[in-house]
Amino acid sequence: MKPDKYLKNYIAGALVPPESGEYLDNVNPATGKVYSFIPDSDERDVQKAVEAAAKAFPDWSSCGVRKRFRILLRLADIIEQNLEDFALAESEDAGKPVSMAASVDIPRAHENLRFFATAILHFAAESHHMEGEAVNYTLRQPLGVVGCISPWNLPLYLFTWKIAPALATGNCVVGKPSELTPMTAYLLSKACMEAGLPPGVLNIVHGLGPKAGQAIIEHPQVKAISFTGGTSTGRKIAATAAPVFKKLSLELGGKNPNIIFADCDFDQMMVDTLRSSFSNNGQICLCGSRIYVERPLYERFRDEFVKRTQFLKVGDPASPMSDLGALVSKSHMEKVQGYLQLAEVEGGKILCGGTPVEVGGECEGGYFLRPAIIEGLPIECRTNQEEIFGPVVTIQPFDTEEEAIALANGVPYGLASTVWTTNLPRAQRVAERIQAGIVWINCWMLRDLRTPFGGVKHSGVGREGGWEALRFFTEAKNVCMKY
Ligand code: NDP
Repeated sequence: MKPDKYLKNYIAGALVPPESGEYLDNVNPATGKVYSFIPDSDERDVQKAVEAAAKAFPDWSSCGVRKRFRILLRLADIIEQNLEDFALAESEDAGKPVSMAASVDIPRAHENLRFFATAILHFAAESHHMEGEAVNYTLRQPLGVVGCISPWNLPLYLFTWKIAPALATGNCVVGKPSELTPMTAYLLSKACMEAGLPPGVLNIVHGLGPKAGQAIIEHPQVKAISFTGGTSTGRKIAATAAPVFKKLSLELGGKNPNIIFADCDFDQMMVDTLRSSFSNNGQICLCGSRIYVERPLYERFRDEFVKRTQFLKVGDPASPMSDLGALVSKSHMEKVQGYLQLAEVEGGKILCGGTPVEVGGECEGGYFLRPAIIEGLPIECRTNQEEIFGPVVTIQPFDTEEEAIALANGVPYGLASTVWTTNLPRAQRVAERIQAGIVWINCWMLRDLRTPFGGVKHSGVGREGGWEALRFFTEAKNVCMKY
C-alpha cells in the first residue's frame, strides 16, 4: 500500500480530487522538501462528504453490531499487514523515527480499531424497574453524521481513536486529519476500500483547518464533533458548535507536571522521565514538560538527566540509530525556538540543548533541534504556563508535598501528570489532589484503552476511551413501558 504524489479525498467510497482542483504542499519535515500534494478542500467537498455519510447512515446504523465488528476487524488486519508502509508514511509525513511509528503509532491504530470493534459486542444499556408498575430501558442510538478532527502529532493513532468508536456505534463519519500529516489517513482510505467498508460510512476530507475543518464544524447535519488539537482551536470550535447544540468532545493542550519525590526508584524514574520529556520530540499531549524534584534528590537528578539527554541521538528518522527525528514543521520549530529565547529573557538557564542540529545529506534542510532542559524559572512565567509542545522541559526543586501539588496545579491546563515515589499513601494523596484527567504513578504513558481519557481546565471537555467513547457517540433514550 504505497503513498501517492497527489492525495485524494475519500468520499462515498471513492478517491476523488478536490472540487477546487487546488492542492497544498505536503512537506517532509526531515528534508524540508515538498514530497506530495494534498487536496485543498472547501465546503463543497465537505457537503459531498456529509451527503454521502447521511445516505450511508440508515444501512450502517441498522446492519447489526456483528457486521460492523467484522468490517472493523478486517480494517485493523489490513493496517497490520501493511505496517511497514504505514510506518514509513507516518515517518515521512511527521518527521518521527520509523522505529517509533512502527512500534507505537501504527500498532496503536490497529489496536484502536480492534478494541472498539470488540467493545461494541459488549456494550449494553441500563434498565430501571418500577416494581409492579413499569420498566424503563435505555436505548443507546447512534447520532447520525459525526465529525472527527485530529492533529499532526500522532496522526493515524489519534484519527483511529476517534473514528473507531464512532463507526462501531453505527455513526457515519466525516473526518479531517491535520493538513501537515495527511498520508496515513489517505492510506487508511485505501484500506477501507479493501476491507469492504460500505461507501459513505467513512469520508476523509483533506485540507486546512479554518477552511475544510471549519466547514465540518459548521455543517448543520453534523451532529457531534470529536476534536483533538490545541486549546485555542478548541475554543473556536466550541464557539461555533455549542450555540447550535452539537455534542462536543474536546481533547486539548497540556502543560503536564512530573513530580519526583526523593524516595523514588531512581533508575526507573530516569528511564521514564527521559521518555516522558522527549518522546516524539515532546510533541505528545501527555509529555511531562514541568519537572518538580524533591530538593534532596534535585542535584543528582539534574546532573544525570542532563547527561542522558545529551546522549539522545537526533537524526534521520529513517535511521534505527535515531532517538529523535525532526519537528513537524518549520513554523513549529521556530515557535519552539521562540520559547527558548523567551525562557532566557525570563531568567531561565538552558542547561543543555535548544540548538538546531545539522543532520546533513538527505536531511540537510530538516527541522532538527537538540532537546533542551531549562532551570531557574518561576511557575508564573510564560515558559511554565504556556504549552510549547516541543523537546523542552523545565526543572525545579520543591521542599514539601503541599508545594509540589501547588506547583503542579498552578497552570491553566490539566491533562496528565506523573508522580514518582515508593510511598504509596503519599502517591494516592497527591493523585487525589492533582487537577488532571490522568495521573500516572511510577510509570508514564501506560495506557489501558478501557479507561476514561481526557483533561480538566483548559485541557478539554468530555472523556474518550472505553465506554465513555461509546456513550459519546450515542444518544441515550429512555423508554418507559407500563404493564
Ligand atoms: P490544532 O488545534 O492546530 O489542529 C488540530 C486539528 O484541527 C487539525 O486537523 C487542524 O487542521 C484542525 N483545525 C484547525 N482550525 C480549525 C477550525 N477552525 N475548525 C476545525 N478544525 C480546525 O492542533 P495541532 O494540529 O497543532 O496539534 C497540537 C495540539 O494538539 C497541541 O495543543 C496538543 O496538546 C493537542 N493534543 C491534545 C491531545 C489530547 O488528547 N488532549 C492529544 C494530542 C494533541 P490543520 O492542521 O489543517 O490546521
